[in-house]
Amino acid sequence: MSTDHLATTQRTHLCGALRATDIGKRVRLGGWVHRSRDLGGLTFVDLRDRAGIVQVSFDPQNCPAEVCAAAAALGLESVVLVEGEVVARPDAMRNPDLPTGDIEVRASSLSVVGPATPPAIPVARARNENLAAEELRLRHRFLDLRRPELQENIVLRHRLMQVTRRYLSEHGFFEIETPVLTKPTPEGARDYLVPSRVHPGEFYALPQSPQLYKQLLMISGFDRYFQIARCFRDEDLRQDRQPEFTQIDIEASFVGAEDIMRLSAGLIGALWREAGSDVPSTIPRMTYADAMERFGSDRPDTRYDLEIVDASDVFRGADFAITRAALEAGGRVRGIRVPGGAALSRKQVDEIEAEAKKAGAQGLLRVKMTNGALEGPIAKFLSPDAAARLGLSDGMLALFVAGPDRVSNPALDRVRQDVARRMQLVDSGASCFLWVTDFPMFDRDPATGGLTSVHHPFTSPRPDDLALLESAPERVRAQAYDLVFNGTELGGGSIRISDPRVQARVFTLLGIDEATAQARFGFLLEGLRAGAPPHGGIAFGFDRIAMQLANASSLRDVIAFPKTTAARALFEGAPSTVPEADLADLHISINGDHS
Ligand code: ASP
Repeated sequence: MSTDHLATTQRTHLCGALRATDIGKRVRLGGWVHRSRDLGGLTFVDLRDRAGIVQVSFDPQNCPAEVCAAAAALGLESVVLVEGEVVARPDAMRNPDLPTGDIEVRASSLSVVGPATPPAIPVARARNENLAAEELRLRHRFLDLRRPELQENIVLRHRLMQVTRRYLSEHGFFEIETPVLTKPTPEGARDYLVPSRVHPGEFYALPQSPQLYKQLLMISGFDRYFQIARCFRDEDLRQDRQPEFTQIDIEASFVGAEDIMRLSAGLIGALWREAGSDVPSTIPRMTYADAMERFGSDRPDTRYDLEIVDASDVFRGADFAITRAALEAGGRVRGIRVPGGAALSRKQVDEIEAEAKKAGAQGLLRVKMTNGALEGPIAKFLSPDAAARLGLSDGMLALFVAGPDRVSNPALDRVRQDVARRMQLVDSGASCFLWVTDFPMFDRDPATGGLTSVHHPFTSPRPDDLALLESAPERVRAQAYDLVFNGTELGGGSIRISDPRVQARVFTLLGIDEATAQARFGFLLEGLRAGAPPHGGIAFGFDRIAMQLANASSLRDVIAFPKTTAARALFEGAPSTVPEADLADLHISINGDHS
């Protein structure tokens, strides 16, 4: 990228952009002292800016003595302005690892414009050098952000945003901002609330997503909307979740699920290409029911097989209390077959079982095939033809969970992932995209027994399942789709309910009575009655996409100022207490002792 236009009244070039073609030019540079070596009179300074690093030499032969002395005394990370001439490095001094390695800048003047206290964490480090503890780096985020890796990630993020805007705008989408001070939208998580000072006792909510606004924009006739939207969810703390995050939020009118999936695939292709990666020309599809049956998860990692098989028939009739009880209770015996897994030690399989238990299974039933015979604690319960019926061959290990699918699905999902990691089945270079479709509309809340939305209450049932809304709501499939990449969900969306009667019916099924529906979503219901086109959309987790494409290991590495997993901003110190008087203005008093 040319950086010529970045010249200012203070600098002529960027440090990292200088090349052999600049030899002979007089330049003025501004940057940070990345490293400095004083060789007794002659000082070399590596000067860094956003474009990279260049070597500047302060040599008593070209440079006044006091300038050389000042160079020798420079503190790391100080900001300096330097004037000098670009010269070729002697052959022996060339550095092929540095893009500027053929040249150096022979300085004639120096001024320290931003002296720095000694940095609390190292900024100049080799790529494979250990980083300071993350807490410390987050505490000094402005320093950590000087690290080339983080600079590259944040710049990639910028490029991905521009590609998103260009792609969607070229496809007729308008970028429209929706409010940040909103009325609560129920996306399943808790809202961040903002007290109103002028309306005592009343609150705004920060948006969990612009869901209702984007639907209203369709009702208003904008036809295609997008927004790179900041969303807020006050969820329990979990690894690699951010309380505020960014979504690429999309909605379109006169569309079906096919249209949204096609437009989304185009956008994802543009993003992946921007980062130098390819996407397949077609993204495979799998229904939710299939994904759960074959992988125990609605976001399966399809980079490896280890598909779940139903072994109930093989265990039926076996004189084994555990499987008999599960089968009699209407459950199944399902499991995975691991080629080469017979070589795993007992301790390793115990560790895999511990994973299954963490996910709620009672235990893991194991059998392996060595030298043509079944071995393991459950082998004796199996008939002689069991190996053939289970499709087991020599060297295979089979791991089963007995019980209802609601228990075996999450357990086998976890077992699958753990086994794949141990057996090194995950091709880290593979890119497996997958659309998961036909999610169920409703789930049952185990605590209350009531129906809850799997996606959100505005998701439309499939037209062919409408009749089931009355008779068997749990069997109703939604026009909902998720895009999964290597086992993580990149985004999800749905075709919305555009018939106010269906919307009212869905609210009732969800236990939202008419008065509550009116109070919370009256504006949507009114909108739906005012002439609503068929519409639908999707939202992609932008941070997650950036993390994948930057090859980062944490969301925090692609967000300029992230929160910790404890939802704290360490460097500015948020959240924090506020003076009583400010609370009083907001008509708020704090209960109890929270010190
Ligand atoms: N609003 C949904 C979400 O944030 C996405 C969608 O349905 O478009 O998950």
